[in-house]
Amino acid sequence: MASHTLIFNAHSSSRYSLAALVGSVESDRRMTELSVEAPVEISDKGVERCVANGPTFLAYSVMSTQTDRVYKELKWVRERFGDSVTIIGGGPHASARPLDLLENGFDYAVVGEGERIFPELLWCLMNNKDPLEIPGVIGEATLECPQPRDLEMVNLDDYPPFALGMNIVGPVEVTRGCPYSCKFCCTPFLTGGRVRNRSIDTIVRWLTEAVEKSGFNRTWFLSPNALSYGGRGHKAEPDKLEGLLKAVAKIEGLEEIFFGSFPSEVRPEFVTKPILDMMRGYVANETLQIGLQSSSNRVLKLANRHHTVEEGLAAIARASDAGFVPHVDMIFGLPGETKKELHESIDLCYTLADMGAKTHGHVFMPLPGSAYENKPPGKLDAESRKLLGELSRKKLLTGSWSLQESLAESLSSR
Ligand code: SF4
Repeated sequence: MASHTLIFNAHSSSRYSLAALVGSVESDRRMTELSVEAPVEISDKGVERCVANGPTFLAYSVMSTQTDRVYKELKWVRERFGDSVTIIGGGPHASARPLDLLENGFDYAVVGEGERIFPELLWCLMNNKDPLEIPGVIGEATLECPQPRDLEMVNLDDYPPFALGMNIVGPVEVTRGCPYSCKFCCTPFLTGGRVRNRSIDTIVRWLTEAVEKSGFNRTWFLSPNALSYGGRGHKAEPDKLEGLLKAVAKIEGLEEIFFGSFPSEVRPEFVTKPILDMMRGYVANETLQIGLQSSSNRVLKLANRHHTVEEGLAAIARASDAGFVPHVDMIFGLPGETKKELHESIDLCYTLADMGAKTHGHVFMPLPGSAYENKPPGKLDAESRKLLGELSRKKLLTGSWSLQESLAESLSSR
């Protein structure tokens, strides 16, 4: 029987991180004495059973929008189990606000990418070594917290995209890092401006194994800008993109490939006719997720978006002509947006519907780690809510825009 247990909370908000991090633990040969569980809910009986068996670690990947839920649960775990459980937090909130995690009951916070640091931290704890010697691990005695950019970035090829041993699967992250600096986004802070691509060989190897071991018959991919695959992020590399799709399409047993659809997104200026025509030959997705974000060139410029509304609309029209349903990301209430511009963005969603597109609506949230983290939260007025509600009812608008309005308020009040 294993001497230690890791309980990794499998909440839906962190399922992709869970798959990658449990995958990195599974592939670490030093972890033979560690038993891993990934419950959706942390239960009294579950923790009690693990604690009775030996040293127990409880891990969370924490999004900034999920802290209320996580901290409440932690308070309960601490009251019930005291120090017999070691609690570790990673994810976007740990990178941006590590001390906030410690103040709310975590023993350790992991700053930066977890694939390398997390197994290392577990190994130190299992062998009575000091985890605070690992760059990126923050604890009570830490004097100075690094930022993710100060730490060594991982090579995606060195880690599995998911945890096949425990059958915790998700999209294959093909690209990490983004050279753009949109001010509402925390991706550049978390993963840096240098783009790293997972190699085609590694992607094919993991997917082949997933077909054989887990009965995968479809796959989807994760990327900040899917059409930039293979390059440095500022321009498309159509040959490398086709090389990836062609190689994945050849995997026996894999029937469907979803690329450029949620949870990935594409930037408008990468949506060209030749690329769309090429993609059509390989992908099964009906939708293409395109980031437009606002109907105002002024607001896009303020947000450092580096494309215009006109480029966005042209990309949407091209995607539609190529047989995709454009699924357009829009953010309402971006900093500096006037009431008139908000209403124009909502009007644009109706225009998009007439073009055969759907809107994925968001309300601006001041995310820690983003350049806009100290800006006021996005707010809708009654008229905007009514118009967006109407589009939702007609199934022309998706997204958690309504919930995000209250999350944005809560983030801002902290
Ligand atoms: S919104 Fe997209 S393009 Fe902009 S910084 Fe974030 S990941 Fe990069």
